[in-house]
Amino acid sequence: MEVTFLGATGTVTGSKTLVTAGETRILIDCGLYQGVKQVRLRNRQPLPVDAASLEAVILTHAHTDHSGWLPRLCLEGFRGPIYCTPPTRELAEIMLPDSGRLQEEDARYLNKKGLSRHKPALPLYTEKDAQRALKQFEVHPFTEPLGVGPFRVHFREVGHILGAAAVMLETPGGTLCISGDVGRREMVIMSAPLPFPGADWLVLESTYGDRLHSDRNPLDELEAVVRTAVASSSVLLLPAFAVGRSQALLYGLDRIFARNERLRVPVHLDSPMATDVTELYHRYPAYHRLERDDVARFCRMADFVNSVEASKELNRARGPRIIISSSGMIEGGRILHHLKAHAGDPRNVIGLTGFQAPGTRGADIEAGAKAVKIHGDYVPIRAKVVKLEAFSAHADQAELLAWVSAAPRPPRAIFLVHGEPVACDVLRRLLAERVGCPVHVPEYRETVALA
Ligand SMILES: [Zn+2]
Repeated sequence: MEVTFLGATGTVTGSKTLVTAGETRILIDCGLYQGVKQVRLRNRQPLPVDAASLEAVILTHAHTDHSGWLPRLCLEGFRGPIYCTPPTRELAEIMLPDSGRLQEEDARYLNKKGLSRHKPALPLYTEKDAQRALKQFEVHPFTEPLGVGPFRVHFREVGHILGAAAVMLETPGGTLCISGDVGRREMVIMSAPLPFPGADWLVLESTYGDRLHSDRNPLDELEAVVRTAVASSSVLLLPAFAVGRSQALLYGLDRIFARNERLRVPVHLDSPMATDVTELYHRYPAYHRLERDDVARFCRMADFVNSVEASKELNRARGPRIIISSSGMIEGGRILHHLKAHAGDPRNVIGLTGFQAPGTRGADIEAGAKAVKIHGDYVPIRAKVVKLEAFSAHADQAELLAWVSAAPRPPRAIFLVHGEPVACDVLRRLLAERVGCPVHVPEYRETVALA
């Protein structure tokens, strides 16, 4: 068996791991790069191996940085099945066409403004391309193994978001686990990840390899921010990923209002995609920890904003109120308009609820930028900025160490991906000390023989 790292090396986006056994090649995850420009430019390069030669793609979960390059892979000639869990396919059905639409909108904008070096600027893929890629999806539940050439494949629950799994590969030559994104022990909606069962080799995410989340309860952390917003009658902007984070915030706000009626203020979920995703929590009760009534309640608690007009109305609305809108790293979506309208007012509050990749507006705001560029203009950031770390869907350093250590014996080697260089390096040293096996941070396109 051989593994080649085709994405998420030294960065948190663009996950792609090629695994070869004999003549069979499979790709685990096929993510889009986001963030700094040098990294994003890789989205335009062809896959370093012939896409048509892949037997199958296996998805750990639906987040764009793990699935968003699939339509492009299919345009490059990949015709095989894309295996995933049932919720992952449903999420991809919502997310991939939306991603295609955004690519088309961006290309149109660049052409209109004459901002592209390429004439005309072309979308990476279109909504139609995304629809075509979805036809190749085949679902597979957590419990049943699946055969692909010499591989036996199992999905193993890792919390994180609905349907997220670690991918376990068994071959006669040994076992390999690809963690995908590992969730947290205590999350408001998702169950704790199942422990790592052990494997000969492990490809592990390292998003928070150099950090510990605050040990505050997520609801207490959120309540403190809501209190500030209510006390000063401000607008609380919560940029959030449409998948997972938006729903965790709705659920959290519902619980906070239930325990303290005086904090109840209007909540707007301004993300049509997040609205569609919220519906899935009803359909997949076995994939999260909430009771049916809890889901029903948090689904009713907000004003679900659909039309563009209603979204624009919110720009004139006064506080106290809460607007949850995507994208989570403020790279696109309706949150941009809300920032333009509300970020200049020092009474308002911006709550950052997830990892902000370098090069994104979210990372700039987190670092204290006084202004960010939106649609060609600088928008002043005078609102108070707070981080809501406890809402993270990623295991922190201690949780990653604990997850790996749960195995009955250490792997023969661990490969660290999906982390910024410092995060990977800190985690590399700690794992080598505590788990006592070789730990390697692979380069882009590096191939390692597993024997
Ligand atoms: Zn993820």
